[in-house]
Amino acid sequence: MTPAHWLFGDQLGPHFLTPGDDGPDRDAAVLLVEARSVFRRRRFHRAKAHLVLSAMRHRAAELGDRAHYIRADTYREGLRAAADDGLTDDGVTVHHPTSHAALRFVRSLDGVDVLAPRGFLVPRPDFDAWADGLGGKRLRQEDFYRWVRRGHDLLMDGGDPAGGRWNHDHDNRETPPKKARTLGAPAPYRPREDAIDEEVRNDLDRWERDGEVTFVGRDGPRRFPASRREALAALRRFVEHRLGGFGAYEDAMLTADPVMSHSLLSSSLNLGLLHPAECVEAAEDAWRAGDAPINSVEGFVRQIAGWREYVWHLYWYFGDAYRDSNTLGHHAPLPDWFLDLDADAVTARCLATTLAQVRDTGWTHHIPRLMLLGSHALQQGWDPRAVTDWFHRCFVDGYDWVMLPNVVGMSQYADGGRMTTKPYTSGGAYVHRMSDLCSGCAYRPTDRTGERACPFTAGYWAFLHRHRRRLAGNNRMSQAVRGLDRLGDLDALLRQARERGDSPP
Ligand code: FAD
Repeated sequence: MTPAHWLFGDQLGPHFLTPGDDGPDRDAAVLLVEARSVFRRRRFHRAKAHLVLSAMRHRAAELGDRAHYIRADTYREGLRAAADDGLTDDGVTVHHPTSHAALRFVRSLDGVDVLAPRGFLVPRPDFDAWADGLGGKRLRQEDFYRWVRRGHDLLMDGGDPAGGRWNHDHDNRETPPKKARTLGAPAPYRPREDAIDEEVRNDLDRWERDGEVTFVGRDGPRRFPASRREALAALRRFVEHRLGGFGAYEDAMLTADPVMSHSLLSSSLNLGLLHPAECVEAAEDAWRAGDAPINSVEGFVRQIAGWREYVWHLYWYFGDAYRDSNTLGHHAPLPDWFLDLDADAVTARCLATTLAQVRDTGWTHHIPRLMLLGSHALQQGWDPRAVTDWFHRCFVDGYDWVMLPNVVGMSQYADGGRMTTKPYTSGGAYVHRMSDLCSGCAYRPTDRTGERACPFTAGYWAFLHRHRRRLAGNNRMSQAVRGLDRLGDLDALLRQARERGDSPP
């Protein structure tokens, strides 16, 4: 009796096929189901659709005769086709999928045995025990991160953090180097397209032509790894050539250098092509060999072993109802220019630049996501559920599990502070300090009203005013809220915000 093993499109690395107590059989036939309905349900970025399909088809090609690649309308139909071919006579195993809906679905299927999740450092029951053990105290990412570091002996010297400190954040918030157009980091790895990509592109063209699906954004050339080989090459290139510069300018933004020293590994991790353990171990090895400084290595390890892992567990810990959180009562619809990634309609240079990056690549680094796109949505009072859906569709690394905590919690504060202690939003002064995006902009970060009023500066004060009562009680926001009393032009600012409505800023 050898059950077939079913791989979802984000379970593509070798660790999803390692046999073991809670793994597939060594000789199991492998099923991959390409369900077209997924692309009909949402208007995805075309580069994302391309990447996912290319990665699934590359995996099937790698596995050769062992793989059964089924193109179907839905997963259910795909499994039925596998059954008709006798592939599931001995049952099916599948690793715990990455969304609530997919988990409910696989659990509802007869003959499907759901195995433990893979692709993360911490097992789910361990996280639950850690969180429950706090006895009602606030969940804090920093505490979780230290617990993971200790538990996995990651970047540790005995019982102490290697390099003497747990957290090198304060070394990693440098403003961008003055007058530099780029950081000058060595170029990141970029894959070369092959015949599989060509086939995917032709399929997507046909689906669009037939009116079956519509996409947003531009597709190509493919910029992110679609196979294990490519993902390993990207990891190697990052660790050997780019990791050293990762830390210092992590939060900075440069118009002509969207990637700076970021790793571009999120899509490979989220497709399951890389395991987080191999990424953090490679970074630690580089530090121990003297090839990268501690602030960069610790910063990178914190992103993966801290943030990524934390977000995964919060997704399950907070439960499916978390997606409906809307503590601030934000209900405005997303405007068409944002939905269509119409960067050319936007005057504010920071937003136009970032939206163009999303349109052209399906990626921006975390500060444009948080402090430009997310911050604008928050200031404008857009519906957090729609904002979450937008991020999910438009980013190559977007999946339900990673979106919910990052967007509902971190970016839109829709959970009222379960994930973060304050809303992440700012006026134009922050954008000006952390980037070169304000130079040459039609707006001035210092102006709250008038022709040249910066949408972020005006939007920030309007947001504080709207939620004054709630935010005054937050000790990280109360000082900012008191600043409202010093504004002589608040009425003019609010009037202007109303008049501008949802037209592109
Ligand atoms: P680097 O800056 O090089 O960081 C290294 C790795 O750390 C990333 O590859 C990623 O795997 C991990 N990481 C860091 N922060 C987070 C985080 N908050 N959540 C999860 N992983 C993290 N990340 C996604 O993987 N998918 C998303 O859909 C996503 N949406 C986001 C939406 C918003 C509003 C915000 C604020 C953040 C979001 N992030 C998301 C987190 C982060 O922005 C991206 O992981 C990162 O920008 C990807 O680029 P990179 O691989 O170069 O990351």
